Formats: sequence, C-alpha cells, structure tokens
Amino acid sequence: MRFEAGDLVAVLTTQPLDRTLDYKAPEGGCVQGDFVEVPLGPRKVVGVVWGPGQGDWDPAKLRRVLRVLDTPPMRDEMRAFLTRAARYTLTPMPAMLRLATRAPGLGDAPSMRKVLVAGEGEPARMTEARMRVMDALAAYGGAPVTQAELVEAAGVSASVIKGLVAAGAIHEQDTPRDLPYPPLDPARPGKPLTPEQEAAAGHLLHGIEAEAYGTTLLKGVTGSGKTEVYLEAVAACLAKGRQALVLLPEIALSAEFLTRVEARFGARPAEWHSGVTMTERRRCWRMVAEGGARFVVGARSALFLPFQDLGLIVVDEEHDTSYKQEEGVLYNARDMAVLRASLASAQVVLASATPSLESWANAEAGKYLRVDLGARFGAAELPEMAAIDMRAEEVPFGRWLSPSLKRAVTARLEAGEQSLLFLNRRGYAPVTLCRACGHQIGCETCDARMVEHRFQKRLMCHQCGATRAIPEACPSCEAEGKLAAVGPGVERLAEEAAEAFPDARIAVLSSDLFGSARALKAQIVEIAEGAADIIIGTQLVAKGHNFPLLTLVGVIDADLGLQGSDLRAAERTFQLMRQVAGRAGRAEKRGEALLQTYQPDHPVIRAILTGDEEAFWRAEAGERHAAGMPPYGRMAGIILSSPDLQEVFDLGNALARNHAPLSAVGATVYGPAPAPIARIRGRHRVRLLVTAPKGVALQDALARWVGQVKTGPNLRLAVDIDPQSF
Ligand code: ADP
Ligand code: ZN
Repeated sequence: MRFEAGDLVAVLTTQPLDRTLDYKAPEGGCVQGDFVEVPLGPRKVVGVVWGPGQGDWDPAKLRRVLRVLDTPPMRDEMRAFLTRAARYTLTPMPAMLRLATRAPGLGDAPSMRKVLVAGEGEPARMTEARMRVMDALAAYGGAPVTQAELVEAAGVSASVIKGLVAAGAIHEQDTPRDLPYPPLDPARPGKPLTPEQEAAAGHLLHGIEAEAYGTTLLKGVTGSGKTEVYLEAVAACLAKGRQALVLLPEIALSAEFLTRVEARFGARPAEWHSGVTMTERRRCWRMVAEGGARFVVGARSALFLPFQDLGLIVVDEEHDTSYKQEEGVLYNARDMAVLRASLASAQVVLASATPSLESWANAEAGKYLRVDLGARFGAAELPEMAAIDMRAEEVPFGRWLSPSLKRAVTARLEAGEQSLLFLNRRGYAPVTLCRACGHQIGCETCDARMVEHRFQKRLMCHQCGATRAIPEACPSCEAEGKLAAVGPGVERLAEEAAEAFPDARIAVLSSDLFGSARALKAQIVEIAEGAADIIIGTQLVAKGHNFPLLTLVGVIDADLGLQGSDLRAAERTFQLMRQVAGRAGRAEKRGEALLQTYQPDHPVIRAILTGDEEAFWRAEAGERHAAGMPPYGRMAGIILSSPDLQEVFDLGNALARNHAPLSAVGATVYGPAPAPIARIRGRHRVRLLVTAPKGVALQDALARWVGQVKTGPNLRLAVDIDPQSF
C-alpha cells in the first residue's frame, strides 16, 4: 500500500503506548511497512508505517513523518507475525516491535568506510616494511581491507601505508560499511549419508521442495547425525534461493558448529546473538533484510530478524529451556518458530535427542512429522548407563565423589582418556551457613541464598546477580570465623577432584568463570583437543559440544532435578541426564555414564538407566493428561509484583474473586500464592495460575480478565502463556 505526501498514515513505534499514532506521510510519500522517523513530543523516534491513518484529525494539526529510513520496508508477513505473536503472548505491540527493531544504528544514514586496494603506482623506494604491506594486501586477494586491518596484518605503522597511498601503489576506496556475507555454496557435497540419514534427509527435502509450511520433529540420539541431516535441508533451502535460520540454545558453544558449516558450504553463516559486536549485529540485520545474508545462526531473538524469504528454521535441541524468554516479552522460541514459518511458507525442523513432551505429543497427534534416527554414526554407541547407589558408598561429610566413581576416573586417567564430572551447580557452595547461630546468608533484595564463588572471592545471588565480599563475621550473630560453605558447587568439586587426583589436569567449565563467550569457546576447543584429563562442568557442557576423548561421565547428583514441586522436573531430569550421558563415547570407544543417586529405584532414574524413552514419555503424558496439564490442557501464569507485599496480595485476591471473564470460557484460576521466587530485586511476587481445557480462546479471556487491573509505576503484571514451571 502506497501513501502520497500528506496522506494520513498510522505509525507503530516502540514507545509504550497502546495504539499506533497518526502522521502525515512525508514528501515523496511512503509505503506500508516503511521504517520511519517521527516526532513524538520533543523527541524523534523510530517506527513502522503500519497502515492508513485512523483518526479524523484536523490535517493542519497533524505532524509529518520526518523521513523514511534507508532500509527495506517491513514485509506484510513480518507484520502479521508480530501481530499474531503479540496476541498469543498477550504482549503490547510496541514491546513486540522492539524485538524486531534491535538493529544497532537503524536510524543512521548508511555509512561508508574507506578500504584499500592495490594500485598501479610504483613507489620510488621499496623498503622492507613497504614490501610487507604489499604482500599482506595481496594476501587479501582483492577483498576489501581497512587500514587498521592492514596495519595489523603487516605489522607496520599507519605512516608506511600512507606513504604507499601517496605513491599510488595503494588506492583508497569508499564502500558501504555493511557488506554482504560471503556466499555459501549449497552444491558442495556433504558427507555421504548412511541409508537411515538419507531417508531422514529425504523427508526434510520434500518439505523444502514444496515451499510450504510444515514441521518435522527430528529425533535421534546425540551423535546420530541430526546436524548432518538438517544441513542437507539447509543446502536445499539455499539452493532454492531462500534464507535459512538455525537456532542454537547455548550460542556460546557454536564454535564447532560454525567450523562445520564452513567445511560444508565453504563460508561461515551470519551470526546473531549477544556475543556478537554491535558492528556485526548491524551488518547482520541489514544484510538479512537486503538478502546479503542467506544463512543465519542465532539465539532465539534471531527469529525477529527481517528475513526476505525465509524457507527453513531449525530449532536445535528444541527441548532446551533457554528457548523460553523469561524476561520482558515471555515467549517460547520453539512455538514462535512454528508461527513464523507457517506465515512464511517455510519448514521447521525441531531437532532433539530428548524432545519436549509438547513436541512429542504434537507428533503423536499428527501435527508434526516425526523422523527418527536410531543409531549413532559409525562405531559409537550410546554409553553404558549405571547407577551408583550412594546409600552403599562411603563418602565422608563434605565430600561428593564415591569410591566407585573415583575408581572409574582412575581407570580413565590410566588409559589416557577424559572424564566429565557433571554437577549442575555454579559456584563453590550453594549455602553459606554460620555454625554458631545457624544463619544462612541471603540476598538483600531476593528470596534467595547467596552462593559462594571462591575463584572470584565473592558471594553472588543467582537471581539478581548482586555480589558482595565474603564477610569475616556472621552478619546475624557477629561470631568470627564461623561461616561454613555447605553443599557442593563445581568449584568445590574441583577442589575435591584435585585432592583425589593430584596428577590430573582439571578444567572447570561454568558460565560464570569466563569473561566472554569467546574465552569460553576457546577453552572448550582446547579441552576437546585434550588439554584436560578431568572436566568439571555445569549444564553448559551438556549441550552441543563434542568431546571426542571423553569416555566417562559421572553425574554427581542425579537426584538434584527431582527435588521441588515442579511438574516438569521428571521431564527435565530425564532430558538433562540423557544429554550429559550422550557426551561420552562419541568416537570409536564406547562410553560409560555413572549416576550417583540415593534413589536408584525412582521411576525417572530407572527410565534413564534402561533408556526406554517411549515408556517414559507415555507415562509422563498419561500423568499430564489426567491432570489437564499442558500439552493436554492450557495454562497461563500471572505474576504480580510490587515493592509492597500487601498491595500485590490484595490485588491478586481481587483478581481471583473477579474471575467471571475466565469462568465464562471454562477456565479456572488458582492462587494467589507466592511465586516460586517470592522476591526478586526488592519486588514481592505473587502468582495466579489459570488452567483451561484445550481449544478454549484463553488469550481473549485473559485479556478481558487482567484488563481489570490498573498497573502503575510500582505494580507490574506479567502474563506467561505456557509457563515452563508450574
Ligand atoms: P547429532 O547432531 O545427532 O549429535 P552429528 O550430526 O553432530 O549428530 O554427528 C555426530 C558425528 O558424526 C559428527 O562428528 C559428524 O560429522 C559425524 N557424522 C554423522 N553422520 C556422518 C556421515 N554420514 N558421514 C561421516 N560422518 C558423519
Ligand atoms: Zn538477589
């Protein structure tokens, strides 16, 4: 839709208003979807031309769109996606738009930069430094290079380069700052697939060829070649000239993935995640919009990039809880990927060794195609799994390694193989306790304990990130020297391992120990190549990365995830344990996974050990079905928060009483009750839970229901559709 200068247009901005604003179209007109700059009060803000203006304003009083930004207009499909996603998650449109405009420098003019290319001129004198510059420049083979890059590559000062420019041996050229990504070659052959992989790839290619929407659940044990198979789908998608997106959960771990893509397609994909520099993000956003980026690897927010022609979205490790955004707009990237693909006539591949119950049920119901890869590639088999019954082991107080596990590690050390000791607890110890008065040091603003991080010599709150020095005296009774670390964390486990295996090289992998994603990546690559004998790690190591020398996984506390009242606890523990165990024995050697547990007969632990997944899923599904829980019923959480405890409870009670909009559709409300974390950053939180039968228009009812509440600067209300924990 085109608007001529002076026509009324409705502009959606990212400002927290509950409607679009009307403006006059600028000189030269604009089209629906254009990114524009508009005046708002004294400020200029970025927005999107959403449609024709709506108010019957006096045109004389309306302000004018200041300018149309130099970026391709937002496509109809993207506007539809944002609208539907907003409706599904009950998110105001401006907040939704914010996700789609996270492009650094979106409002800036397209900037140029100077690059250097070889010229014809001959300098009068060719010094050794000048030679180095010319050689370095030649090594770029005509690709644009900046002066800074050349200074670095040749190891000379900028004046040497200036001299060559003056002599005409090097020319300066203006090029756009954001260059297209090097093209990927989908025609390069991949690895020859096994018949089973071939069949799986065939199913995916079928969908890609059709250029229609469809979702496939690609299920296969770690190492069965899921990545290999979905890269075939990426190749087919690229060959069709469409764009492809692969979402990964712990993007920090993608070093290996990027190298693999490069080996397969001859160039690296564009990257979109928090570890990428502003300049690179800006380039990625722009090139995705202009078509100069055909293949993007990213974190969940990459779903909101302005793809021109998206043909495929892969959600790798689709069960991963990090796909659920838990702050700001609460959305699940897996579900949003399906929504986006359905609007773009694209294919979705959900890959996992341990699919979420939701996806499993969708496949059972025939909504998703299910494709299974059974065997591990090559000789690698699933590790042998066994429980270590901790009731029968002698482990001194304050120690966590059982004699059985130590023996297994010793055998690996002697064989020159790696062991992984897995404990999903960051820091040194989860509790810091005063032995004189029993006081536990807690966070000042959260309902959480402070966790000791001994490497950093600080206590840290894992809810809000607040840190403080470890006190000498108990903050409660002031007794000196009585504070004790209680319970295990990876740092403490590392201490115990160092004591037990004094000659072993031990590496701790925990997200908080690395300043940057880059440092972490580097460390992981080194470890995978054999720089450590014993790896001690949190959840971080459970995902994605191959450790070819690893043949033993020891799970320190297999019962950890089974505690608490979370109904998804069984599913999570099952997935996590299977994933961790899958790290062992990827290459020629069969691995072994040992689970330290105090309840070896627990149904979940037994299911993990026997590996009878279908039985496990069926039992879980049965329980959820009986309870009307997702995915067999609908659920939403409403979190009210305020610094004032009384205020949130009063309001929660009022909402619970005025449930008419909910009961009208057969939904039930529970609560208010303190939220799982009852206080964060000084704000008290209460939660109401709403359940409804499947097929109910829950969002509309919820909108009417919470619409009764007036939120304010203190009082906040967040709706969480399909909460992860309940
Ligand atoms: P998954 O994604 O299921 O964990 P991958 O695709 O990463 O499995 O495969 C595991 C390992 O086996 C990788 O190193 C991969 O390169 C290798 N591999 C898988 N399939 C093949 C194949 N057909 N030919 C050669 N190597 C393969
Ligand atoms: Zn805190």
